[in-house]
Order: sequence, then structure tokens, then C-alpha cells
Amino acid sequence: MAALQRLLSSAWLLHLLVLAALAGWILVLNAPFPRPAVALLEAHQLEILGVGGGLVAVLALLYRRANLALQAAVISLSIAGLGVAPSPAHGVTAAAILLPINILILALLDERGLLSRDGLWRCAALVLQVLLVLGLFRHQPAWLEALAATHFLPAAVSSWSSLPDQGLLLGVLAVAGLLSWALLHPNPPHIGAFSALVTATVGLELSLMRHGSLVLPTLLAVVALHLLLFAVLQEAHRMAFRDGLTGLPNRRAMDTLTQGLSGRYTIAMMDIDHFKAFNDTYGHEIGDQVLRRVASNIGRVGAGGRPFRYGGEEFSVVFPGRSPDEAVGALEAVRQAIADTPFRLRSADRPADDKRGSRERSGQRGEQETRITISIGVAEPESTSASADDVVQAADQALYRAKKGGRNRLAR
Ligand code: GH3
Ligand code: MG
Ligand code: MG
Repeated sequence: MAALQRLLSSAWLLHLLVLAALAGWILVLNAPFPRPAVALLEAHQLEILGVGGGLVAVLALLYRRANLALQAAVISLSIAGLGVAPSPAHGVTAAAILLPINILILALLDERGLLSRDGLWRCAALVLQVLLVLGLFRHQPAWLEALAATHFLPAAVSSWSSLPDQGLLLGVLAVAGLLSWALLHPNPPHIGAFSALVTATVGLELSLMRHGSLVLPTLLAVVALHLLLFAVLQEAHRMAFRDGLTGLPNRRAMDTLTQGLSGRYTIAMMDIDHFKAFNDTYGHEIGDQVLRRVASNIGRVGAGGRPFRYGGEEFSVVFPGRSPDEAVGALEAVRQAIADTPFRLRSADRPADDKRGSRERSGQRGEQETRITISIGVAEPESTSASADDVVQAADQALYRAKKGGRNRLAR
């Protein structure tokens, strides 16, 4: 049940649904398209890809996602190439090789602004590839034919695909690489790059199976662009509702949850003890490390608790459908775990040089340990008319009592 819930709320869900629908449509239904749709896709391939790719790229750039914008351009250009090539087979050969390489590299590279030096290099690499491919289409189509005719994969493998061997190999390697990367770092841009590449590659595959028809690759390129668009929006949602430092949902996310609550629920407010002194002693950067450590403990709270970074060094946990009696066990476990685990930090006189620092640290010099504790206040609605704000206030008062009572404790 918990695994299902995690999947439903995960960044993977929509991408997997689209890929499953695609597979079902190809394997089971394989229904022909209505004629007007076919005519539209064939007659206006370049316009559809240009407008679709352009819109996704502009939206991605608005959210500072230059790599996603370039991936949208790569998909549009690769599939548009099928229409301008001397034959669809020439277009598929070029696209099957360049599409996976570009999508994979752009997914692995760090995000930089489009107008930064790195961003401009990436644009230049893309323009160069377009010029190279157009040059080959016009002056050396035989070179692409020879490339497509070079077989090095065992027939048992390449007979599964209509793509040239190079494209098939690169496609499989890039899809496998992106899948591992997205499983390792499951954020929307990585998952989007994976699902968009799979979709666009299936489009290339279907193009040759259908005697070079532009309809399916264009349609699937539009689906791939939507998957990238979805990744942009998911990332924007994450930026709006997650705290960048700790990765926990933020106060806005908590407000959205508590607005929909009714009946029984419990809210816990938590605050790190003597954090100002800690910051003053060790510096803001170490303070941030402590915030991340504490957040990771709170993030593992049990009893169905939903953790949030409320603001500054304050955290909160909402327990929908639970009474304080049912929640305190999980909260005490979090408090105890934080208090029991020493926090290792580098001493203030550590060497500035990193190499020397790590040498000396491994020799146990320049390392210090300290303990961190938190205080917790817990409350529930006192009457059916109590709002979530009232409960937060009551939990805050309980937190104040926990501080007064000596800290590193829970009060209600
Ligand atoms: P108490 O035990 O009574 O809670 O004492 P305290 O020192 O923790 O309380 P106070 O509210 O006075 O201090 C909170 C400090 O948290 C002040 C501020 O410097 C620090 N702080 C807030 N947000 C951040 C942050 O994002 N990073 C770091 N490093 N420090 C933060
Ligand atoms: Mg505070
Ligand atoms: Mg504090």
C-alpha cells in the first residue's frame, strides 16, 4: 500500500502511464488513424514540430531549464529531418544516431543558463550537427546509405529492429543509461529525458516499418515533447512546494494539506535547541548541514506523519486521522534518534587546503563531535470549529512549554 502510494505521488507515474499506453496501443490495438489526422500530420509536419518544440523550449527556458529546452529542440529537429531528407531512410539513419547521443549527454550535463558560456557551446554543438546533417543529405547521401548498410550486430539482435545497427546500439545504450540515471536520481528532468527518448525512438522505428511514413514519428515526437513539458512543470511544482535546502515539502505544501483536513488529526511543531548559538559558534554553513541532518531524521517519521520544513530551523509534522496518543511514539523516536546521533564537524582551525584537510581529518585531527537536540510541541483540534491555524498555534504553545521545561523533550 505504501509502495503504491509512493508510486502514485512519484515523478515517474505519468511517464510510465504514457509509455504503457504507447506499448498497449502498438502491441494490442494498433488502430489506424482517422484520415484527417493523417493528412494534417503529413502536410504540416514541420509546422507542428516547430511550434510544439518551440513552445516547450520557451517554457523550459522560462523555468531556467536550458537542457530540457535543448532536448525539445533535438527531438523536433531529429524528426523534422525525416521530412527534409532525400528519403525517410536517410533521415532515420541520421536521427537514430544523433538523437540518443544528444538526449543522453544533455541529461547528464549540469544545468547552466542558455546564455552562459556552457549554454552557448551546447547551442553551437546543436547548430553544427544540423549543418552537418543537412550537408550530408544534400551532398553525401551515399555515405548515410553505406552507414545504414554496415551490419555488425548479430542478425538475431538486429532483426528485432528496423533501425540501422549503429542507431539500435546507441539507442539501447542511451535508454539503459538514462534509465539507470533516472532511477539513481529520480528527478523530473531525468525521468522526462528517459521517457521522451523512448517515445521518439519508437517513432523512428515505426517510421521504417510503415514504409517511411511521417505520421507516426511526428505524432510520437509530439508525445515526447509533452513528456518534456510535463517534466518542466513537475520541476516547477517541486520548486514551489519543496524546500531547496532540506528537500522536505515547505510551508506552502503544509497549508495545502491542512486546508483539506477535517475530523481527527494531530500537528507537531519542532524546533532545534540553541540553534542560534550553534550558528554563531560554527558558522552558517555547518548550521545548514545540521538542518539537513535533522530534516532527514524528521523525514523518516512513522505513524503516517507528513513532515515539512515550516521555516528557518522549525519543522512540523501533520498526522492526518491520528490522535496525539497515536503520534507521540513516532515523534519521540525522531527526537531520540536526533539526540542519540553525534554530529561530526570540522574544527574552525581546519586547513583551508582541502587535500591537507582530508589527510588530517583521516588522522582524526581537526574533527569534533557535538550533539543536537530538538523540542516538540503537539496539539489536536479542540473542537470541530477549530482551524488548522488554531492547532498550529496550540502546538506552538506546547513547544514553548517544552523549551521552558528544559528542551530535548515533547510537550502537549
Ligand atoms: P531555542 O532553543 O530557544 O530554540 O534557541 P534558538 O537559538 O534555536 O532560537 P532562535 O529562534 O533565537 O534562533 C533560530 C536561529 O536559526 C536564528 C537563525 O540564525 C537560524 N536559522 C534560521 N534559518 C536558518 C537557515 O536556513 N540556515 C542556518 N544556518 N541558520 C538558520
Ligand atoms: Mg526558532
Ligand atoms: Mg531553536
